[in-house]
Amino acid sequence: MHTDTSALENGTTLEADLCIVGAGAAGISMALEWIDSPLKVLLLEGGGFEFEPAMQDLYRGAIVGQPYFPLQAARLHYFGGTTGHWAGFCSTYDAIDFETRAWVPHSGWPIRREELDPFYARAHHLLDLGPYEYDAADWSRRDPELVPLPLDERVVWTKMWQFSPPTRFGTKYREAIVSARNVHLYTHANVCEVEANESLTAVQGLRVRTLGGKEIRVRARSYVLACCSIQNARLLLASNRQASAGLGNAHDVVGRYFMEHIEMPSGELVLAQPETAKMEMYAFEWGRTKARGELALGAQVQREHRLLNGTASLEPGAPDDQVKSTFQFLTPQVLDAMRKWDQAGRKGPPPIPQPLMDSAAAAAPPRFFHLMTRQEQAPNPDSRVTLSAEKDALGMPRAKLDWRMTELDKRSIRTFYQLLGRELGRSGTGRVQIREWLLDDDRTWPSSISGGWHHMGTTRMHTDPRQGVVDANCRVHGLGNLYVAGSSVYPTAGAANPTLTLVALSLRLSDHLKTTLA
Ligand SMILES: Cc1cc2nc3c(=O)[nH]c(=O)nc-3n(C[C@H](O)[C@H](O)[C@H](O)COP(=O)(O)OP(=O)(O)OC[C@H]3O[C@@H](n4cnc5c(N)ncnc54)[C@H](O)[C@@H]3O)c2cc1C
Repeated sequence: MHTDTSALENGTTLEADLCIVGAGAAGISMALEWIDSPLKVLLLEGGGFEFEPAMQDLYRGAIVGQPYFPLQAARLHYFGGTTGHWAGFCSTYDAIDFETRAWVPHSGWPIRREELDPFYARAHHLLDLGPYEYDAADWSRRDPELVPLPLDERVVWTKMWQFSPPTRFGTKYREAIVSARNVHLYTHANVCEVEANESLTAVQGLRVRTLGGKEIRVRARSYVLACCSIQNARLLLASNRQASAGLGNAHDVVGRYFMEHIEMPSGELVLAQPETAKMEMYAFEWGRTKARGELALGAQVQREHRLLNGTASLEPGAPDDQVKSTFQFLTPQVLDAMRKWDQAGRKGPPPIPQPLMDSAAAAAPPRFFHLMTRQEQAPNPDSRVTLSAEKDALGMPRAKLDWRMTELDKRSIRTFYQLLGRELGRSGTGRVQIREWLLDDDRTWPSSISGGWHHMGTTRMHTDPRQGVVDANCRVHGLGNLYVAGSSVYPTAGAANPTLTLVALSLRLSDHLKTTLA
């Protein structure tokens, strides 16, 4: 069922068993799980079915730390969420990402990597990925052309990635949600406040506003916030009438530990023997590639050298290219063009910037590759989302992002590239030149530093309420019926892109709620 909230009477109260706030990758993955269950589920989406500039403007916010993408371009505010323009690159997190690592302050998840396996497999279907196989040997068996480089896997291994078409959740799952008997989608339903009971031990309602000035209330037995990292934190912080620091924030953790993936070109590889080198496994072509390998740092050397996790993709090119990372090309204008191309049925070539098309289309065996880093950022309490003094059109304080790096981030990339260079040289693959900025001291970063448009942290998972906002079941500490879905719960960022893992965690949360709400 679907209702546009603007059509409701002012002051209406909606009631349900479960209320999911936000219809992006996390919220829709969860809502689909409840179709035909005996329970009544509300899915509240702030936007409509299409992009609306006034709605998108609610995401505008201040950036005070490391320069970052404009917040209103970094996430989409309508049904389907940011899957309306995500790129679809997926891989699983590694076992080491979940461990407490003595050299990475605040590391360690309260769950183990193996626990996610069944949920990863289910998430694959939702994201239209291939078989749930991430071992390079499996892909070599499928296609003998895909041969991993002969590297010492303890140092550098071939980590496989898969590519979603990319699945646009708003397009693909709209009919299933709208026609569901027991799941009721409300669009233009912006949640502006979470209201707790007097003792602040449970949520008793949500305050929802429309741009037309209506206000409605929602009551449910359990609530899930699935608005993505910046908005999840903003909503909890802005719910500060009953608790001055915001709900779920008794220990000042909400909004902290905001993390990105550091994604930028960091070196170049020149192959020793380009004519005979087998590089197909590492090649990528937009819209065609099903799986490819990246060069990833082995867990053993991460431990030995006290490093963060990182991988490097190989992008064929020329030494004098003004190369940027893939995602630096994705300016708001390019994203808009891609969205329109997608909505118009993907006729003709995708509106990808020319340099990327050129490298994808290179015909001769390439000799030269740019090495693109994807590295986890160390969890840092000072890297955070707070509220700005400015309010949006619904009267909610805007978000303020203070993204910060640490010396460990820089040292990790540099050492990764030194180890990568040594290993590619030792194996006879070729020579690596490390970018100059990486050889500077650990505190300085180039102005071109870039994230991957991935937002993680801000409501991190930890068994101790003083160190985390949610527990191992994604329930907000201290509030019996409030949960969070999405990458805001990640205690550490891993090196892989976040969406596959956040969909897996959303399915896990649905399973958990099915037992508590039964
Ligand atoms: C350019 C780009 C490329 C990307 N490429 C990749 C990639 O290749 N691989 C990858 O893994 N990830 C990628 N991502 C990240 C990916 O898009 C996100 O990880 C994913 O969309 C997050 O899902 P989510 O449901 O948590 O948030 P979103 O998809 O952002 O959905 C949140 C939903 O909540 C709604 N909402 C927000 N606030 C409220 C409110 N107060 N009330 C009601 N509703 C609200 C929003 O309208 C939205 O529908 C990319 C992102 C961008 C921008």
